[in-house]
Amino acid sequence: MTRLIRTPAFATGALLMAGAANLFAQQPPPEVIYVDGNIYTLDPARPRAEALGVAGDRIVAVGSNAEVRKLVQPRTKICDLGGRTVLPGLIDAHCHVASLGSFGLGRIDLSEARSYKDLVAAVAARVKEAQPGEWIVGGRWDHENWPGRKLPTHHKLSEVSPNNPVWLTRVDGHAGLANAAAMKLAGITRDTPDPAGGEIIRDDGGDPTGIFVDNAEGLIARRVEAGVTDTAALILKAQQMCLSVGLTGVHDAGVAPAEIAVYHELADSGRLKLRVYAMVAAHAAIGYFKEHGKLIGDRLTVRSAKLYVDGALGSRGAWLLEPYSDRPTDADGNPYTGLAVGRPEFIRMVAEDALLNGYQVCTHAIGDRGNRETLNAYALALSRHPRQDHRFRVEHAQVLSLEDIPRFAKLEVIPSMQPTHCTSDMRWVYARVGERRAAGAYAWAKLLRTGVRIPAGSDFPVESHNPFFGIYASVTRQNHAGEPSGGWQPEDRMSRAEALRAFTLDASYAAFEESQKGSLEVGKLADFIVIDRDIMTCEPRAILETKVLQTIIGGETVYRRSGTP
Ligand SMILES: [Zn+2]
Repeated sequence: MTRLIRTPAFATGALLMAGAANLFAQQPPPEVIYVDGNIYTLDPARPRAEALGVAGDRIVAVGSNAEVRKLVQPRTKICDLGGRTVLPGLIDAHCHVASLGSFGLGRIDLSEARSYKDLVAAVAARVKEAQPGEWIVGGRWDHENWPGRKLPTHHKLSEVSPNNPVWLTRVDGHAGLANAAAMKLAGITRDTPDPAGGEIIRDDGGDPTGIFVDNAEGLIARRVEAGVTDTAALILKAQQMCLSVGLTGVHDAGVAPAEIAVYHELADSGRLKLRVYAMVAAHAAIGYFKEHGKLIGDRLTVRSAKLYVDGALGSRGAWLLEPYSDRPTDADGNPYTGLAVGRPEFIRMVAEDALLNGYQVCTHAIGDRGNRETLNAYALALSRHPRQDHRFRVEHAQVLSLEDIPRFAKLEVIPSMQPTHCTSDMRWVYARVGERRAAGAYAWAKLLRTGVRIPAGSDFPVESHNPFFGIYASVTRQNHAGEPSGGWQPEDRMSRAEALRAFTLDASYAAFEESQKGSLEVGKLADFIVIDRDIMTCEPRAILETKVLQTIIGGETVYRRSGTP
């Protein structure tokens, strides 16, 4: 049995109500004090501090060196920060933990492939080590980085791997490339129909090219037997990667009940150090919450469902109001507007179940039609139930019709966004949707002006898990080379303060955790990081090079960069 199941919300919140003057007096004495730091607290009442006191897993003092040193007792440990910068622990509000781990543990990482030839070469190398018939899996390829920018076909891949089935997912996870052996195993022929919300891309002669989009991916994916099947190992690998870049919390955007069980085991045995906010995968959500209720725990919280309305823009699965600029018609000559991966009626139904049972709904929506349908479904569900603090989320909220932007604030729906998606996609967004529609794309400042909060994430492994890349993208809307000069659609940049909030307090808000996390205040969890530069004042490009020296979760140092005292 887990200690964590259905514990009531943390009990120390009441301390936050006390007056500032006698606040320290009501706290246990610090066991450790951190002094001489350049501390950004994100507490509006005291935005900057020099010192922190920690007892157990909580912050018990924040203030000047003198104020906090006054609390020193004979057994208090003193850590000198040497003037270094301290931030609240960073939180990735949308990511895929086990999937990141799989790239750390053997799945072929094709993110560096600069052509289809590179991809084929990487697979050919793996074939040499593989047993005949063994599956070869990989991902993170992006044809937008290749000459010609065309979706690949299976032929060369089938040549180098005639006896091993191959399945390689696109960087966004919303399309995959199979070779002939994989298609044969899956029984795919020219007569296989497209499933609802999915597409088997075909050549001019009508034969499958090997590309399977959105709901068609399952035709191959469910046949795959490969890679590390030890979910705990995948999670622990990803955890190590996250801690080293300053993440203290992650929102895992769509996990099956079996994976939640693994998270429980890891939490119970003390091996889960990251704080995980797990969203239950769509198909399982209603049944899961009926059976288990919601769980609010220390390292694991499960109180939200992850749904999908559409696919992704890169693979042209995002559901648009008007046809794609670079694919106006489908194979049959009908207007092509993307894929309705999930039915809006299903979203409405789950949203109503969530309102009745007190869990949160987070729906993936990328295209302007997908976003509108999701907002409509939420609006209908909300209109039928008493007003409550629902915090329903739209994951990505990527391309918005300008008239839908104010609806987020009006409905109190949270746009959960990924700054690095903007700087990866900006190369081809105009090709997909044209400049007029792109005015509502990655519209951070336009959304913030309506009063919403934007929790930020990376969608790793779609993008790098390094949150400093996200902070840089938020404030520059430039790639790592500093292009385009001035930033892409720069009017939608965030300020540094907004970007930092997005990765801390606003990510916490999106998980109902802002009273416990996201800022450094007395009574809150002692989750913070020590970094090697001041990201609030350095050159913007220098943010990219930030090194995390120490990551502290619940008062425990869970990562220390080698060479750091
Ligand atoms: Zn995602």
